[in-house]
Amino acid sequence: MSIALPPMSSRLGSVQSSAIRDLLALTAREDVISLAGGLPALELIPSHRIRDAAQSVLAESTSVQYGETSGWRGLREIVAHRESVITGRSVQYAEVVITHGSQQALTLIAQALLDPGAAVVVDEPAYTGALQVFSIAGADIHAIPIGEDGLDTDELERRLRGGLRPTLVHTVSNFHNPRGVTMSQFRRRHLAELADRYGFWILEDDPYGEIWFGAPPPAPIFSDRVVRLSSASKILAPALRVGWMVAPKQVCDAVELLKQGADLCGSSMTQQMAAHMLADTPWLDLHLETLRGEYGRRAAALHRALGAAFGDAASVKPADGGMFLWLTFHDGTDTTALLPTALDHGVAFVPGKAFADNATYSTSARLCFASSPAPVLDEAVRRLTRAHV
Ligand code: PMP
Repeated sequence: MSIALPPMSSRLGSVQSSAIRDLLALTAREDVISLAGGLPALELIPSHRIRDAAQSVLAESTSVQYGETSGWRGLREIVAHRESVITGRSVQYAEVVITHGSQQALTLIAQALLDPGAAVVVDEPAYTGALQVFSIAGADIHAIPIGEDGLDTDELERRLRGGLRPTLVHTVSNFHNPRGVTMSQFRRRHLAELADRYGFWILEDDPYGEIWFGAPPPAPIFSDRVVRLSSASKILAPALRVGWMVAPKQVCDAVELLKQGADLCGSSMTQQMAAHMLADTPWLDLHLETLRGEYGRRAAALHRALGAAFGDAASVKPADGGMFLWLTFHDGTDTTALLPTALDHGVAFVPGKAFADNATYSTSARLCFASSPAPVLDEAVRRLTRAHV
């Protein structure tokens, strides 16, 4: 006998599981080479160092206890120091909140800054995790295209002049997910000017900024209205679930209040482990150098293989950092339709349509080069070529 359950929140109505996500569940099959996930390479995760960090922090009784809601003070200080170096201004630990990955910071920021129906500007194509957060928050989402130099701030300005009044603009400034591009200094300045003129928040989402191949990206977006997010997921390990937010003190206080309701506090143990590793600058510098070198080689290998396989039928720009290449077919190939065939041939990617509610991206795909070594990437492209006939 089926039981009629009591009602659930109407908020769920705006959140849908997509057909693409259901297909991507198949990428976990052992016979599939997945370029779909945004997963750091398992063999580059510093497991020995993580084990040493665990051993050291377990000697401290504070590591197994509840901790402060805004994060372990030692880690907030280290993050404040690192962010001071990256941003070129003095960041205080009171302007840092440690979150359960930067994904939790996105959720808490949406709760702190947005009323239902508030206008939010996102990238087009956008990081799907941000789209999900803003749709759960009941935001009125407006997409602005990403160009070769990041968010098209001229288009944003046109929309603002036309009456758009966003509460918040979310953008991935460095080595964009999914487009791979980096926002130019000009675009960063222009966005900050627009934020000052029209009074909106900028949510700079930057988990990839440290993974550069040639030269570091430009300095972060500078404005009093910036909330900056980053994470230990891509440089140490996603399983630590350590991310952080740098924001004006009032925003940190609001997020702290909301975080009390969400989880009381993050894991003292993994925060102290992250602090242990981030504070060991000589080790960290060497580790980042290894990541940059190997990811750079993988990016170049995938770019070369795609160029050789598809020639004029597709275009793909080389990556300057991060984890993704963005492939666009010029022969009309619909990448959503290609995915099931690609899975039959043992290779997976994310179709462009997953990142935007817009047919413009139906011939594009996001390919992650980070998770597989070069020979596996070559094999993935051979399989993709066989699927694309
Ligand atoms: N922002 C962006 C742009 C991402 O790509 C990701 C993860 N792929 C996140 C935030 C969240 O990462 P985490 O919660 O592991 O820090």
